[in-house]
Formats: sequence, C-alpha cells, structure tokens
Amino acid sequence: MLSNIIANQTIHEAYGGVVPELASRVHQQNIIPAVQQAIINAKVSKNDIDAVAFTRGPGLLGSLLVGVSFAKAFALAQNVPLIDINHMQAHILAHFIGIDKPQFPFLCLTVSGGHTQIVLVKDYFDMEIVGQTQDDAAGEALDKTSKVLGLPYPGGPLIDKYARLGNPDAFKFPEPNIPDFDFSFSGLKTSIMYFIRDNQAKNPDFVAQNMADICASVEKRVVTILLNKLEKAAKAYDVKTIALAGGVSANTGLRLGIQQLADKHNWKSFIPAFEYCTDNAAMIAIAGHYKFLKGEFIGQQVAPLARMPF
Ligand code: ATP
Ligand code: FE
Repeated sequence: MLSNIIANQTIHEAYGGVVPELASRVHQQNIIPAVQQAIINAKVSKNDIDAVAFTRGPGLLGSLLVGVSFAKAFALAQNVPLIDINHMQAHILAHFIGIDKPQFPFLCLTVSGGHTQIVLVKDYFDMEIVGQTQDDAAGEALDKTSKVLGLPYPGGPLIDKYARLGNPDAFKFPEPNIPDFDFSFSGLKTSIMYFIRDNQAKNPDFVAQNMADICASVEKRVVTILLNKLEKAAKAYDVKTIALAGGVSANTGLRLGIQQLADKHNWKSFIPAFEYCTDNAAMIAIAGHYKFLKGEFIGQQVAPLARMPF
C-alpha cells in the first residue's frame, strides 16, 4: 500500500448527520487534491497507474456520481481500464491488505453507518448475505444515541471513548427477538431515547452524571446483539473463521468481543487494521487489484448505483 489519503468532511457536524447535497459538493472540491496527494505520497507519476478502481455503489448518488465521473475522466485521459467496485464488498476485502489474510470460506459481520450484515464469503467476489438489518444499521443506532446524549457527529468513536470509562452493566437495554440471522436496531434506538428522556425529566444532570455508564451499557447491548447472531450463523453454516468489517469494527468492545467469541469455540477471528475500518481508498484499491488480476473491467457507459447487490 503506497498511500491511502482520506479527505474527511467536517461540514456535517453542524447538522448532526450527513447532508447528502453538501456531501457531494464537498466531495467534488476534495477529489482532485486528494488524488494528487495520493500520487505524490506514493512517489509515482500518474503515468505509472495501470487501472482506476472506483466505488460504483451502494451509497449517496450525488457523491457516487462525483467519484464515477472522476474515475471515467482519469481512465479516458490516461487510456487505462476502469474497475467498478461494490463498497460493501470492499469493506470485507480490506482484510486482504495485510499479511495475515483469512482463508475462504469465512463469515464476515459488516457493521457500518448504513449497513449491518452477516456475509458468507466464499471467494473474493463470491459473497452471500445470510442476515441483515430489517431497519436501522448498528452504526446508525450509535450515532443517534450519541446525538441524544449531546455528543457531536459521528458519535460512534465518542461512545467508544466514554464506554471504556463506564460500567457496561449499569443499565439494561432490550435485545430484540428477530428470526434467523437478521437484526433490528430501531426498537433499541427508541428504548435508549425514552430511557434518556425519562431520566433527564427526573434529573436534568442525568446524562452528564452517567455519560460513561450509559455509553458502556449501550455499547455492550449493541455488541452482544451483533455477536450472538454471528455465533448462531457460524454454527449454522459450520464456518470456523469469523471476521469484522465496516466503520463500527473500529469499536474497542466489538473487537475484544469477537476475539473472545473465537477463543470460546476455538475459531479464528480477523479484524481489519484500524485505518481500514471506516471508509478508505485502500479497500477499494485491494478489491480493484483482485478484479484487475481477472481482467474484469467496465466500460465508459457505467453509471453509479445507490443500491447495488453483490
Ligand atoms: P456504509 O459503509 O454502510 O455505506 P459509511 O460508509 O457511511 O456506511 P463507515 O465509514 O463504513 O460508514 O462507518 C461509519 C460508522 O462507523 C459510523 O456510524 C460511526 O459512528 C461508526 N464508528 C466509527 N468508529 C467507531 C467506533 N470506534 N465505535 C463505534 N462506532 C464507530
Ligand atoms: Fe462504508
């Protein structure tokens, strides 16, 4: 990996969530400087680049359009092939950047801002979703919780920080009863919001006095919901290698939890390096690498897809 430049957007903090129209505009301003910086850091010339891999979907259409248009223009100008990548597959393929790579088949729990999935990974591009959320994503539940706690967006990393200082058994939140390997986080989100509202009404300093315990208890419930389903799926599919992917896999409690789960059953667990958990270019590049080896390219007529199946 020669370089991995991330252009973060701070503009959304003021709104407590991503504003799609602003996201695409800022993306448009950032994309050329970010690519330029990546080329400089890698100490290569743009003429050394053999192909361009880009995220085709799923995601916000405006932002995807910026990336797809840039990739097409760059490929056309440089006369190199284009490689279209599924963002959720790339989160999983981030495992293949390092030296310690999981062996197929493995079960990957992909948890991010917009997705919560259990994926049976049979090969680089042969993946089957065996369970997913019926409503909100796990990351969304954490981000909404942090919002009612008065923490800035995105709240996941802050919940993680406070959770380390609190008692995970201080407060009990419900575990939903959802069939098979699917998830639901909207009920949990609502119960957390009512819990905070009702306690604040009785004691206006409730959140301030209990921030660490609330974060630790919320984190514990989210992690147990996720790992209970992963355990159930691994047994049902008789898979002995489990992995994490997506932004929420940066969470300390979840990283520790999956290791404990694997130890309990003598399974192997894989966690991506911290910098490859939340969105990054390296995961798109590694996915592009495997498609490049197979010669799987896409033409200039390609369009982004807000929803994109595997
Ligand atoms: P998707 O991949 O579903 O399209 P996305 O690309 O917007 O969503 P990611 O960058 O993959 O999202 O992940 C962002 C999510 O990860 C946010 O919900 C954020 O709160 C969460 N997150 C990041 N770090 C942590 C952490 N340490 N603990 C918990 N959650 C975290
Ligand atoms: Fe993502």
